[in-house]
Amino acid sequence: MALSFDSSVQYIKGIGPRRAESLGRLGIATVEDILFYFPRRYEDRSRLVSIASLELGQQATIEAEIVSVGGRRGMRTGLDILEIGVADDTGRIFAVWFNQPYLRHYFKVGERVILFGKPGLYRDRIQMASPEFEIADSEASESLDVGRIVPIYSVPQGISQKVYRKIVRAVLDEQTSKLTEVLPFDIRNRQKLSNIAKSLLNIHFPKDEESRIEAYTRLSFEEFFIYQIPLILRKLRRKEKKGIAFKIDENAIHAFCQALPFELTFSQKCVLEEIKKDMSRPEPMQRLLQGDVGSGKTVVATVAALAAASSGYQTAFMVPTEILAGQHYEKIKNQLATFGHKSQVIPWRAQASRKKKIEIGLLTSSLKDKEREKVLKEIKGGKIDILIGTHALIQEGVDFRKLGLIVVDEQHKFGVSQRALLSKKSLNPDILIMTATPIPRTLSMTLYGDLDVSVINELPKGRKKVETKALDLGNKDEAYAFVRSQIKAGRQAFVICPLIEENPKLELASAKALFKEFSQKVFKDLKVGLIHGRLKKPEQEKVMQEFRDGKCDILVATTILEVGIDIPNATVMLIEHAERFGLSQLHQMRGRIGRGEHESFCLLLTEPNTEDAQARIKAFVAYSDGFKIAEEDLKIRGPGEFFGERQSGLTELKIADPLKQFHLLKSAREEATKLLGADPKLASRPNAEIKKQLYKRFPEFEKFMMVG
Ligand code: ADP
Ligand code: MG
Repeated sequence: MALSFDSSVQYIKGIGPRRAESLGRLGIATVEDILFYFPRRYEDRSRLVSIASLELGQQATIEAEIVSVGGRRGMRTGLDILEIGVADDTGRIFAVWFNQPYLRHYFKVGERVILFGKPGLYRDRIQMASPEFEIADSEASESLDVGRIVPIYSVPQGISQKVYRKIVRAVLDEQTSKLTEVLPFDIRNRQKLSNIAKSLLNIHFPKDEESRIEAYTRLSFEEFFIYQIPLILRKLRRKEKKGIAFKIDENAIHAFCQALPFELTFSQKCVLEEIKKDMSRPEPMQRLLQGDVGSGKTVVATVAALAAASSGYQTAFMVPTEILAGQHYEKIKNQLATFGHKSQVIPWRAQASRKKKIEIGLLTSSLKDKEREKVLKEIKGGKIDILIGTHALIQEGVDFRKLGLIVVDEQHKFGVSQRALLSKKSLNPDILIMTATPIPRTLSMTLYGDLDVSVINELPKGRKKVETKALDLGNKDEAYAFVRSQIKAGRQAFVICPLIEENPKLELASAKALFKEFSQKVFKDLKVGLIHGRLKKPEQEKVMQEFRDGKCDILVATTILEVGIDIPNATVMLIEHAERFGLSQLHQMRGRIGRGEHESFCLLLTEPNTEDAQARIKAFVAYSDGFKIAEEDLKIRGPGEFFGERQSGLTELKIADPLKQFHLLKSAREEATKLLGADPKLASRPNAEIKKQLYKRFPEFEKFMMVG
């Protein structure tokens, strides 16, 4: 029976229902899936060596003559052992296989055989145990397993590499002539990409390294190309939509900036210009603002909110934690207050504004019912201009009177689908997403290809680099003495622990235990505070406030401190068991210090017990630039882990690697942009295959295309 692409793998010779089921678990259901299930790696078995030059324990390929074929039963193991002797001009070794009696008829004395395996010493003689093999001059014109570059697949139990290779080969032979090209000819021509049939042949069974790379490039390009399409289309469609063209009151913004205790950095100013330009245009803004920890993103967002308010629109300012919401609320309220005070003489208020003052509100889950109701009413009535809260803000059915701008702060895990949710909330509001996990350029294109991107690439003047040092856990007295000296000088310290409760098994320093040790022994003469995620929200806020007010010298904390906290007088951070934290997480935490005029210090107490942990600590001590750190982190962890959740275009990529193939990704994006510019609905005949591929990879996208 002739199989088609859609045929179940079960009908392929050598597979059957049971094997089909285990393949299904790997996502291989159809004949076509076999074609596009790529090798995990390759082994170069093309180089033949002589028997004399074999090295014990080193995999190698030999070609030799069979000089004996025999069998025996293992004395201790009872295994059925097949043993052949092989020789070439330089020497003689044995090869053995266990419990595969049917192999006996395969080998004949006098024939030549190719073996690939690891020679070992067994009772004073050299033998290869269970090598891969092929009769050298057998009928088969091409060997799949030895004497060549051999593909290694991730195969399920019950299917050997050898069997699987045979299946792939058979499918290739039968199906490649039926393949249709997805990439249009002119793109392939411009980008010098080989055709699909050749690429598939060479990705599975490359003749040499060169043809493997050619195939890898072509297939990666196609994957990038398809993945970029939804992103580009989303962006194009967005630009066609009608959003809000804010009428920004420049005087108000000027007055606000004048009233700030600092001057905006050049970078902040540039980014603000980009944002204001977006906001004043009718198409909805969706801009990603990247900036390292402490680069001053909050104030930029505040100005954007002010711009919206000056045009009569409300802003929803979303942050990941309630502590942070409270902090932003206080800070922005103060900034708006000073500005309000100074701006009394400024004419814009009289003429342009519909009311006297910009109102700011805070909505958290710890609000009492009555307060909550009041806030909700003020939002609905339009009294509140800027509403700060956690992400629940947007989901909890909060009714805005005239929502115009959504700010998402500290959000490095904000996927495409969540973004789509946001704009449903109101009629195409402008969206500003801010992240302090600077994503290397290599990745932002895959991850945020539908957004416009702004970057703050400098820190405010006068920021000092945080001095970072790693110490052995054994040297903690030294670290504690240093903390004490800083507190004597009037500063405050954070001490971070990886776990809340004591866990004797892991012997981790726990926040609670450490708090006890500090407050009763080590720092008993100082004021020590404790904060962790299990404390009730009001309790957390109280502790933070005390620390902020300087009523507490040392704050023992869990990673709850990770995001956003801004307390300039805190100049020391001691991180216990720093090896337990991820690199980006460490960087976020370090960003809590070095925010004021004083020199700041980050001390790590570590016990790095894995290679990765060592690499992390080393990179963390060496670099202070968030972009550099993010890049190192990506290298150590890989993108899937780095972003934690499934992100379109990252973990789903089968062969392409945006980190390693950035230029290819760029070309693919350029080509896709050009093509979609000419045919945004993919309606022309030559693009039909692209559309098919697109819907196959992104079934949910079909609706989007239909709606238009
Ligand atoms: P992040 O980008 O990490 O969110 P923040 O917005 O919290 O950083 O800003 C960090 C600190 O720097 C805040 O105390 C903020 O008031 C201050 N800041 C912001 N911009 C400037 C500037 N241009 N000059 C001096 N300080 C600034
Ligand atoms: Mg921030």
